[in-house]
Amino acid sequence: MRALTWHGKRDVRVDTVPDPQLKDATDIIVRVTSSGICGSDLHLYEVLGPYLDPGDILGHEPMGIVEEVGADVTELSVGDRVVVPFNISCGHCFMCDRGLQSQCETTQVKERGSGAALFGFSKLYGQVPGGQAEFLRVPFGNTLPIKVPSGPADDRFVFLSDVLPTAWQAVEYADIPQGGTVTVLGLGPIGAMAARIALHRGASLVVGVDLVPERLSRAHADGVKALDLRRHGKDLGDVIRDLTDGRGTDAVIDAVGMEA
Ligand SMILES: [Zn+2]
Ligand SMILES: [Zn+2]
Repeated sequence: MRALTWHGKRDVRVDTVPDPQLKDATDIIVRVTSSGICGSDLHLYEVLGPYLDPGDILGHEPMGIVEEVGADVTELSVGDRVVVPFNISCGHCFMCDRGLQSQCETTQVKERGSGAALFGFSKLYGQVPGGQAEFLRVPFGNTLPIKVPSGPADDRFVFLSDVLPTAWQAVEYADIPQGGTVTVLGLGPIGAMAARIALHRGASLVVGVDLVPERLSRAHADGVKALDLRRHGKDLGDVIRDLTDGRGTDAVIDAVGMEA
């Protein structure tokens, strides 16, 4: 198959590599139809090189069609459409049972002090082959993949792999009071999604700050009060206070650099 592989700092290539194989009886093989590129992939492209080997396959935001299932897979069939979460969790350990899948005890990379293993994300997270590839081996086929209906385009679902839950969690942590207000710093994928989620969950005002024109206009179209940092670099606080009767927003989400 063809896959995006890491070869060194700022050196990634689409190579021909062996197709993934079923290993465990609950594995599935997914034929990837869409796969996001994450802001955190830039860490691999730059500073995390010491934790990668040449040939490592990147990517952790995939979705696709089930191509093969292991003997013990009962919840999915060949041909099903699935989104694959970036966290690899077993679904039945102490942590998974408490909804803390990012700390799954079965896949935790203890020797590195990391949480659950991740697809395509260096030795720090298990060195698991990633999803910017034609095919992906996915463990825990009965519990990990999210089955989605066929029909609507991939971009209606692919954000379930990382962007939507990451942004949802940011809004959850921000703890905006009902009908309250929030400032979102950075309107990349996570910031833009967090802003939309905050509005969806009833925020009365979402202020979004960025300096990329396309991001600002997209946020404006979504109903966000979009502020251009190039224009408001010095008076941002004053502008936000003016928008909120002098109080400032109830919460702030820092999504700068959180660009899943
Ligand atoms: Zn687990
Ligand atoms: Zn990501």
